[in-house]
Amino acid sequence: MMLDYHSLLLALGVSAACLMVTMFGTWFSRRTDSFLLTLVVALCLIVSGIFAYSSYTVETGILRVSVAYTFLMAGFSMAYAAAVQFRSGAKPWALASMLSVINAALGLPLLIAGYDGLGLIVMNIATTALLMGTAWQYWMARHEAPGPLCGIAALYALSAISFALCAVVLIDGRQWVMGHAPDNWAENLNIGVCIAGMTGIGSLSLALHQWRLAAHHRREAITDSLTGLLNRRALFEKYGNRLITPSMAVIVFDIDRFKTINDQHGHAMGDHVLRLFAEDLNNGTNTRHVVGRLGGEEFAMILDNALPGRAERIANDIARRFAAREIDVGADAPLRCTVSAGVAIGVIGGQPFDAVLSLADNALYEAKRAGRDRVEVAGYLRSVGLGETRTSA
Ligand code: GH3
Ligand code: MG
Ligand code: MG
Repeated sequence: MMLDYHSLLLALGVSAACLMVTMFGTWFSRRTDSFLLTLVVALCLIVSGIFAYSSYTVETGILRVSVAYTFLMAGFSMAYAAAVQFRSGAKPWALASMLSVINAALGLPLLIAGYDGLGLIVMNIATTALLMGTAWQYWMARHEAPGPLCGIAALYALSAISFALCAVVLIDGRQWVMGHAPDNWAENLNIGVCIAGMTGIGSLSLALHQWRLAAHHRREAITDSLTGLLNRRALFEKYGNRLITPSMAVIVFDIDRFKTINDQHGHAMGDHVLRLFAEDLNNGTNTRHVVGRLGGEEFAMILDNALPGRAERIANDIARRFAAREIDVGADAPLRCTVSAGVAIGVIGGQPFDAVLSLADNALYEAKRAGRDRVEVAGYLRSVGLGETRTSA
């Protein structure tokens, strides 16, 4: 029976070690998700603990059980810290060290004083708490990837329960001092659950990593890296095969004489101005809208539900807010920039997005020709000179 238990322990140790290698390889190939690396460190500690414990089951001794205790507690503390890191992005090292020290202080004195049973009870209770905490962290983060995260949380919780049962059996038998490794039904169940749980948690954690990576790439592919707005591709993906109806509007913005800003204040200042305008666009309206950067210093806003005249007013508001900015360029006089805009509204029956976009573009061209710093509406002979509005106000 003892030998049987011992081989199970070895099997657990070997499968944990294989998992550790796979995880390390996965992390190493990208080096983005560092929670995987934290898990690798946790597994490394746990594997060391398992081998120390397995040697303790063969030949008893205070040193062996103390080493096993220390490594296992450090490993489970690290696994908890990995979960916290997964959920919040916090660095794991301080938390893991603190928990390891606390757990060592709780159990080691008992083991050294000869109360091996009591020490193992403390270990089982502390492990239950850490695994439950770990399950809780993944459960709280489940919205990110419901499938893998609920699975991981459930497996951690199950493992936690199996450790709790070990503690209960020892307490129930009042086994404060044993002189050997415990051997009972709860220990056997525990090791079975751990083998299944570890394998499951390992593969789900890898799945989770892939899930995150894919989401990251998906986001990156549709985001403009300078401004964080949607990029041209995203706008076309979103509206490319939709018809723009009269309740919808497309506004195209183009910053005036942007080349001069780059030439006079440098490319970095140009980038800064682009980000400031992106901010103005984002805060542009409380009507339902989507904004994106078409490229260079050209931006687009699409209103999904705009009353007549509303798009034009919104374009004016944004342009006025941008023009009112005093951009610090380190010189005595702040930099002031303006923007021109073209507005196009859908027709009855709807019109393809690219057609409406090019109407808005034509209107923008008109605005530039008419002297810039203004908003033109496509198909109407109506325009608003922002400069005039400002002086009359
Ligand atoms: P207009 O008033 O007619 O719009 O004149 P403009 O100078 O704004 O227009 P033009 O299209 O000639 O110049 C756009 C410039 O924007 C040229 C390009 O170097 C610059 N540009 C494009 N993308 C970026 C960018 O990401 N960052 C910076 N800093 N400049 C950019
Ligand atoms: Mg321009
Ligand atoms: Mg341009």
